[in-house]
Amino acid sequence: MKMNFAEQIAAQAGKSIADCTNHELYEALLTLVQKEAANKVSEKGKKKIYYISAEFLIGKLLSNNLINLGWYDDVRKALAENGRDICEVEEAEPEPSLGNGGLGRLAACFLDSMATLGLNGDGIGLNYHLGLFKQEFEQDLQRETPNPWIEEKSWLTRREVTYPVQFGNLTVHSRLHDIAVTGYENRTNALHLFDIEGVDETIVEDGISFDKEDIKKNLTLFLYPDDSDEAGRKLRIYQQYFMVSNGAQYILDECVKKGCTLHDLPDYAVIQINDTHPSMVIPELIRLLTERGIDFDEAVEIVKKTCAYTNHTILAEALEKWPISYLKEVVPQLVPIIEILDDRIRRKYADERVAIIDRNDLVHMAHMDIHYGFSVNGVAYLHTEILKSSELKPFYDIYPEKFNNKTNGITFRRWLLHCNHALADFITGKIGEGYKKDADELEKLLAAADKDAKLLKELLAIKQQKKVELKNYLKATQNIDIDENSIYDIQIKRLHEYKRQQMNALYVIHKYLEIKKGKKPTTPITVIFGAKAAPAYVIAKDIIHLILCLQELVNKDPEVSPYLKVVMVENYNVTKAEKLIPACDISEQISLASKEASGTGNMKFMLNGAVTLGTMDGANVEIAQLVGEDNIYIFGESSENVIEHYAKADYVSKDYYEKDEDIREAVDFIVGKELMKLGCKENLERLYKELVNKDWFMTLLDYRSYAEAREQAYRDYEDREVWAKKMLVNISKAGFFSSDRTIAQYDKDIWKL
Ligand SMILES: *Cc1c(COP(=O)(O)O)cnc(C)c1O
Repeated sequence: MKMNFAEQIAAQAGKSIADCTNHELYEALLTLVQKEAANKVSEKGKKKIYYISAEFLIGKLLSNNLINLGWYDDVRKALAENGRDICEVEEAEPEPSLGNGGLGRLAACFLDSMATLGLNGDGIGLNYHLGLFKQEFEQDLQRETPNPWIEEKSWLTRREVTYPVQFGNLTVHSRLHDIAVTGYENRTNALHLFDIEGVDETIVEDGISFDKEDIKKNLTLFLYPDDSDEAGRKLRIYQQYFMVSNGAQYILDECVKKGCTLHDLPDYAVIQINDTHPSMVIPELIRLLTERGIDFDEAVEIVKKTCAYTNHTILAEALEKWPISYLKEVVPQLVPIIEILDDRIRRKYADERVAIIDRNDLVHMAHMDIHYGFSVNGVAYLHTEILKSSELKPFYDIYPEKFNNKTNGITFRRWLLHCNHALADFITGKIGEGYKKDADELEKLLAAADKDAKLLKELLAIKQQKKVELKNYLKATQNIDIDENSIYDIQIKRLHEYKRQQMNALYVIHKYLEIKKGKKPTTPITVIFGAKAAPAYVIAKDIIHLILCLQELVNKDPEVSPYLKVVMVENYNVTKAEKLIPACDISEQISLASKEASGTGNMKFMLNGAVTLGTMDGANVEIAQLVGEDNIYIFGESSENVIEHYAKADYVSKDYYEKDEDIREAVDFIVGKELMKLGCKENLERLYKELVNKDWFMTLLDYRSYAEAREQAYRDYEDREVWAKKMLVNISKAGFFSSDRTIAQYDKDIWKL
């Protein structure tokens, strides 16, 4: 449908475009988009995939929807003709705060790709009112505040769907809200977010603390409420059960409406369990099926054919294990079911390692998923191999046929077409529009470059433009000055010791000391971080403190700041990622090998022409294979060696501290007089001790080879033409990481819609 957008927007807003605030324009467009999206809802397809996840890190939706509906250019022009800038309208939209990191962003990319491929697939999750906390910096420390995002008018549509959900000591009634998921020139699917009606934001006081036992008021307030005490851990179980019970009731109702007898549920539904937060959907479905007249054994068989599990981590602390006593209190009706499921496994397999309820009465959620689902997938080649050969080996020995790999992907609509219009238009000019539907066509850029002598220079010019835009953005938002002619070296991701922001910080210290001694870099360097730390993760917050202290020290030092700048971006989220990634030269992907299941940030950077500096971990392995060793900077121990170090417990960080002078100098600097003057003694000393005495993620082991690889990248950057070729190869080879490819594989191997 061709529309006169200027007229439509004005009619919707009830006044002329010139008279609207940006927020009014955003609301008018939101309504127009919602109407058009509703026209594209389709019930085509008997079988549906339900992607159930505690997180959906969807980001702002206006521009993404305009692109997917094919409206973006016309709307931009209509606004421009009336003196308005679509970018300013975008700024008026609050970012939904429904996710934490990569796992939630993956769920969002998958919804986009399912709709784009025309698959019948919905998301199921929770409608957190205050979302994940908002990060603020105060005296060089992270402070957490609530992150409200639901306005009077929003993307949420209230549905006439409500279910009772029974807990041990109370019953709550849910309310469903939907967000439309538009596909790129295709159908509209739905993200179903369950909520309770009585949620009360006023119980939050002093940052993000609140009464964790007041379930009727707090249930859908926050994503990942603090779980450092028992009430917090129980609240997480309340949330998880609320999500899966609503999800399961919704799925059964929807299937029955389509003619399902429940005996044939697997013909109507497949449930993808995104990590272990939704694992209780297995016993809950069994419970509901038996309540509706199916006998227990058959219910188990039905569920086994309906549920599939995605593993996202091998970090032991992230694999959920709930004390059975908590479950008895919160969800007593599930406990006898889980006990039977465990008993059946114990009768069949003597191996204690595959039990569901262990000897300490902990329920291993992942074990339940593996035994009682039909598919187990990892999220990158290396990750899946490690699952099979070590972390989940006892399970792989029992069920080799269940294990499969689905290397993660990202939606190119958001991470190229939306976040980098200049680059997308440039690519279209060189190779046509085909890549927008078939990402592999990006490879045509290589041949185009051979024929077109100007291409690489133009590519550099686009990067330069994006660097200027980021410089202006950082000035406007955080009042920090950076040099657009410096190298932008960026690490943005959740703060975790395994991701090793501390190693990057040690290098910054090293560079600072070198410059102080008179050794200046040829091209200035800007090191940018963005990361939230979990509120109860002490060392992670100490690392943020270190980075913020370095930012202050380095940027204020007139001898150093012309050559080195440090920026810690506040409240890193999708909106900020969209501004940082197009401007990046060097993408820091430096996790300890074997620890990062896949990573998706690495893919976004590659697609936008950044060159990766990384370990052979997660999807970096596949990036390296695609671009070849000349177009990536790889360093560090292999995953095999790392796994061996853990097995033998033979890594001693102090040895590296003592024998390597650069390391010792940088580590000592953390507690040296310069930083002590700026920072908190307690935090810095704790971090120092952690690195010297423990260093569980082997920072010092890899530091030397990291610093060398980084220096090499900086040297290579000097030859702009050679560097531009590396950028081009990275963009050209990124097609594999389209989530359209990932989703097509899920469908072919697991969902079979
Ligand atoms: C992509 C993305 C992530 C995941 O980044 P990794 O580097 O893969 O950990 C986290 N947060 C946001 C906002 C993202 O866009």
